Amino acid sequence: MEIDQRLRQKIANYKPDPAAILSIADVPLVFLVGITGAGKDSLQAEVLRRYPDTYKFIVSHTTRPPRSNNGVMERDGVDYHYIDFATAERMLDAGAYVEANIVYYKNIYGTAIAEIQEIQKQGKIAMSDIEVQGVHQYVDLGLNVRPIFIIPPSFDVWWKRFQGRYEGKIEWPDAFSRMRAALDELECAQDNDYYNIVINDNFDDTVELINRIGKGQSRERSESALAVLDRLATDMAAHLKAWRSKHPV
Ligand code: 5GP
Repeated sequence: MEIDQRLRQKIANYKPDPAAILSIADVPLVFLVGITGAGKDSLQAEVLRRYPDTYKFIVSHTTRPPRSNNGVMERDGVDYHYIDFATAERMLDAGAYVEANIVYYKNIYGTAIAEIQEIQKQGKIAMSDIEVQGVHQYVDLGLNVRPIFIIPPSFDVWWKRFQGRYEGKIEWPDAFSRMRAALDELECAQDNDYYNIVINDNFDDTVELINRIGKGQSRERSESALAVLDRLATDMAAHLKAWRSKHPV
């Protein structure tokens, strides 16, 4: 379904209920962000598995239908709350989201304030893997965010993972737009110093580092990590340029 202009405007102008936002101001919110193939999904799953008493996954609301991931069907209330557009619009009208956004042009994704309040009742740290615009909105609201941007150790490592992931599954123009989107995200991490930058070099170490940042014991944005990030963005931009010159649009 195409999202019409009226609904688009509503999302663009969306403001949550201020009193409800104030009520969740103290909840630590850990956001794992990372380019496709950086490993954030496995890292998030492992942190949640290892520390179930500390972290709770934020179940977002989405208008997209459940899908199967590697043969495992998503579950309502576990992976997402699956809602229709009319419900999403009612939530917008009621100010019930912390933030909501249109993702991949055709669906509305957002977090309900009530979801965070529930995590607050349990005394846990909230964790999610929302996209960069969503993180930005949380930051703007002044909430207690700990955003973590996960990067691969080098372009070569990433490129192998990326190809392995998509080989034979998606066509090159699509891979190209995913790479373009990845570069945009890298630039976002470069430009916004609220992001911790974490290099996913060794899986176990990275899980522990995320746990320390998540608990507020560490803040990671070192010169060396920023250098890896810059190198990655430069290499990716060069790769995109070379690809475009071979496939003029
Ligand atoms: P997917 O459909 O693959 O599960 O997710 C698509 C995108 O939606 C991902 O980039 C994910 O980070 C983002 N997303 C998931 N939940 C939320 C949310 O509550 N808010 C925002 N802004 N993005 C979300």
